[in-house]
Parts: sequence; C-alpha cells; structure tokens
Amino acid sequence: MAKGLGPVNVWQEDMSRPPEPAPGCETCAALAAQRAEARARFDASAQTDANVLMRQHQRSEHA
Ligand SMILES: [Zn+2]
Repeated sequence: MAKGLGPVNVWQEDMSRPPEPAPGCETCAALAAQRAEARARFDASAQTDANVLMRQHQRSEHA
C-alpha cells in the first residue's frame, strides 16, 4: 500500500529570504521603498516590519 504524500500544509515562513515586491504593485513598491530606507539607516527591526507587512500584503493580494 503506497503511502500517499498529500499536500502538506506546513506554514513555512522563510525568514531568511525576504519577499520580492510584485511588479506593478504600488503597495509592494511602497513597502520595498520602506524596507530599502530602513536598510539604508541600518534599522533591522524596521526592515523586518517591512518584510512582515509585505508578506501579509502578498498573502492577501497576490495569493
Ligand atoms: Zn503587492
């Protein structure tokens, strides 16, 4: 009896790989700009915030 490997819905947040802004999306562009600005001032927590917001936005808008 073969063991079926069904779709495994493990919610995997890959924190090591920041989300990429979707081309042509204003919200993504704004968050990317926010992240770049945070990076420029070495603000790691603001960068994380921008990444979290971008993920949430992409999950609801670009799913
Ligand atoms: Zn977007």
